[in-house]
Amino acid sequence: MWDLERGRVIREILRCRGKRILFQAPEGLKLYVEREIEAIRRYFKDREDMEFIMWGGSAYGACDICDREGKYLGVDLLVHYGHEPLPYVKPEIPTVYVSAYYNPDREHLIEIYRDIDRILKEYHNPVVATTIQFKRILQLYNPYLILGCRGDIRLENNRDILYIGSGRFHPLMLAYKFRREVLTYNPISGEFSRIEREEVEGFIRRRLGIISKLYLNPPRKIGVVLSTKKGQCRTGVFKRVIGILREKNIEYIPIVLDEISPENLVYNVDAYVICACPRIALDDYINYKKILLTPREFEMYINRDFQYQLDEISPEDFKK
Ligand code: SF4
Repeated sequence: MWDLERGRVIREILRCRGKRILFQAPEGLKLYVEREIEAIRRYFKDREDMEFIMWGGSAYGACDICDREGKYLGVDLLVHYGHEPLPYVKPEIPTVYVSAYYNPDREHLIEIYRDIDRILKEYHNPVVATTIQFKRILQLYNPYLILGCRGDIRLENNRDILYIGSGRFHPLMLAYKFRREVLTYNPISGEFSRIEREEVEGFIRRRLGIISKLYLNPPRKIGVVLSTKKGQCRTGVFKRVIGILREKNIEYIPIVLDEISPENLVYNVDAYVICACPRIALDDYINYKKILLTPREFEMYINRDFQYQLDEISPEDFKK
């Protein structure tokens, strides 16, 4: 189902003459990669000096690579599955990225193309966007590639957006960013659906409602949270938020941690500004007792700006 490019991985291991290799994969690929490690180990069966280690922790995106841990363990090569390199994440050890392209059989592929062509015709040629896993099979549609959590799409002539991929995060992100319906097609299940305008409006109303709560009860103290995950460690944003809090004379506590979770945010504050993955405030807020804001929402609150702006990570965020 997924092309894990075993030949290329073996060539890279041979090229770097590595002995200790660390494999990292997101949840959905971990079992596939476990089997992959067994196959690679068989290839190197005469090499008793080699170690193949699975990273048991998270791999939320290319923002979350375990290179520092690999460095600490003396790893020679990190093989990271499921994501493309991000321009603002520079690994500290040699790293191979394996995109894990979706690899359907011929019959299924023909069905996929038939479905897509029908949708394109019916919706007057919408702009196509996808993630790295589907880039290879969609080349003929010249799709926009969504990297990390940025929806860099140019929407000319008010065309619709067709997101081709699995999961709801990316099409929701596009819908929130462009404030419009997004058509979705899942090539694995063949399911076609759409993110409706009401859902988009509901999201914006909810987020503005959360910001408005702070006008009713102005926060006495704010936790400013930074993650040490390399592609989420937005030090520039962290500093900017702290600068604003100082200027406005609002008490704060800077908090730095790896994994942001409800168990880890236990402080005596009224709200947290999460200078890490935008999904924590936007998707997971329900699991937290305190108000969570993205840095953009925090600035909207300070500036009394009610034009909702979606938080997206950019290379500038990392400037110290
Ligand atoms: S949404 Fe979060 S986990 Fe996904 S790439 Fe962006 S920062 Fe990483």
